[in-house]
Amino acid sequence: MPQLLRPPLVAGNWKMNKTVSQAHNFVNNLKEAVTEVNDVEIVICPPYTALFSLNQVLKGSNIFLGAQNMYYYEKGAFTGEISPLMLQEAGCRYVILGHSERRIYFGEEDTLVNLKVKAALRTGITPIICIGEQLADREAGKTEEVVQKQLVGSLAGLEPELCQMVVIAYEPVWAIGTGQNATAFEAQEVSNFIRKLLVNNAGSNRAKKIRLLYGGSVKPDNIAGFIKQPDIDGALVGGASLEVADFSLIIKAIKKEVENKCQQPS
Ligand code: PEP
Repeated sequence: MPQLLRPPLVAGNWKMNKTVSQAHNFVNNLKEAVTEVNDVEIVICPPYTALFSLNQVLKGSNIFLGAQNMYYYEKGAFTGEISPLMLQEAGCRYVILGHSERRIYFGEEDTLVNLKVKAALRTGITPIICIGEQLADREAGKTEEVVQKQLVGSLAGLEPELCQMVVIAYEPVWAIGTGQNATAFEAQEVSNFIRKLLVNNAGSNRAKKIRLLYGGSVKPDNIAGFIKQPDIDGALVGGASLEVADFSLIIKAIKKEVENKCQQPS
């Protein structure tokens, strides 16, 4: 089977949900449900408390670990924060940065996201950088302006070689946790705009290799439409990643669409 230029990726953002024992239970069931899926990178982003021990459970499986946030210093007097080194040792391959909930509830701005992106890459952790407009921005015709500002700010000063390593999640804020997903067309339009912008940071060949995810009320019954789009390489899933049945259906639907994409002439 031919491979896609950009390996598909699906990440489950559990937010502040699941204790360690609940997390173990979930992962043991998910492992069984997706044993056959080897062509989609599956990532679980649990709360910090579950990271280290989940890493032991996931060893040798096709599911990888990600964190939901981190600070950018290696260590020091930053009460309540977690460093990239700590995440690396806990087994994280990915970290979500700049999620809209971090921006809205904790005042994170692009300059801070940028420092975190650089720190993650220095430590060998792949940042999944979230960008997306609020409903008022979309209604005012400012989607591209907002997305561009967040992208440029988050990637400022990154060398093209490093830029190529990042994953960008386009997450319209009005679609997160609302059940009101963007249409596949809307998501593709913005994703294509993002890919064109990435040429400025990474050059045109590298920009073609950067994975773009869609996030915002992804469910088993709408995921296929997103994955069919030429610039969408996977999904960042919140609510529907909390149930094994839903999350595994999403993963299997991605696998199916990826197989279809592989058959298409590029
Ligand atoms: C998210 O929190 O990143 C997200 C996309 O949530 P949901 O899937 O619940 O909209």
